[in-house]
Amino acid sequence: MKCIVTGAAGFIGSHLCEALLAAGHKVTGLDAFIPYYPQVVKHRNLLGMLRHPNLRFYRVDLRSDPIDELLVGAEVIFHLAAMPGLTQSWTDLDGYWTCNVLAIQKLLEAIQRTGIPLNRLVHASTSSVYGRMASGDETLPTQPISPYGITKLAAEHMCRAYAEAYQIPIVILRYFSVYGPRQRPDMGYHRFIQALLEDKPITLFGDGTQVRGNTYVSDCVQATIAAAEATVGETYNVGGGETASVWDILHKLEDISGRKFIVLQKPARPGDQQHTHADTTKICQQLGWMPQTSLDEGLSHQWEWQAKLHGGTTANNGSYQTTAM
Ligand code: NAD
Repeated sequence: MKCIVTGAAGFIGSHLCEALLAAGHKVTGLDAFIPYYPQVVKHRNLLGMLRHPNLRFYRVDLRSDPIDELLVGAEVIFHLAAMPGLTQSWTDLDGYWTCNVLAIQKLLEAIQRTGIPLNRLVHASTSSVYGRMASGDETLPTQPISPYGITKLAAEHMCRAYAEAYQIPIVILRYFSVYGPRQRPDMGYHRFIQALLEDKPITLFGDGTQVRGNTYVSDCVQATIAAAEATVGETYNVGGGETASVWDILHKLEDISGRKFIVLQKPARPGDQQHTHADTTKICQQLGWMPQTSLDEGLSHQWEWQAKLHGGTTANNGSYQTTAM
């Protein structure tokens, strides 16, 4: 199939592009290199695939750049572009609002305007739309407690409004805490592993009993690809099946690395979720998807990747086409 991946230079988007290319699909990757974390990391995420004959990559900001011509021929669009993470969303609402809500509206508008015969628009949403207690199935009430969660819920509503008005074939996925190689540097497991590698203390926000439903990145990617064949209009939780408290994770990482954490505790941050665990019965039953990677395995892969990186790999500041045409 011919697909578009927005957020292609990001953590999950770059893995998604690689998986689609490996499966023989044609991919157009779009990304604005938003400096939420260092752009050099995003350039590195792309390194392994930039020369692939079935990849076209464009540096495009969905909020402002023309994209109509890029959409021509697309059968499936995977929309992963967003400002992620909740802490910064308290202080940069403009960035979160424009990247998470305005950008999807512009994309939906372009799909409607061009009238491309799209099979699916798969939209990446988040467990943060549920709020503090995000444990259950897709019928849980949506009560976000951070500006990030609010913008992601607004984006879901934007998709549904355009689907209703213009028959755009949307599917919504709510990802639960994705981890693995290339995990964003602001995310917990990345910071924990980095501290072990650099022999520095970690800051633990809250009492460490908060629980996360962890999703290994390749499982998340396979669920995302499977969603291209889901019934139009459906919403699915995507979670790895194994939950763990922060203390559990720290103990597992100590076992994997053979090193010890120095832990500094601080109060929980506004908007922090207490308990997240995806009930994934719906996606398992309807799409035949099952997570394949255990938490121990997945954490080992992330440790190995970060340790190798720490040992000294270089990143490349590649240059990309900057316009749609
Ligand atoms: P990421 O920041 O690594 O990737 C997102 C990419 O989107 C970035 O490279 C960024 O430059 C790009 N982008 C942002 N605004 C853009 C714009 N206006 N135009 C073009 N590109 C733009 O984040 P990620 O962790 O890979 O998350 C991917 C998606 O999954 C996001 O929608 C996020 O909300 C969602 N999600 C992630 C997690 C997780 O645990 N990582 C959990 C739940 C949901």
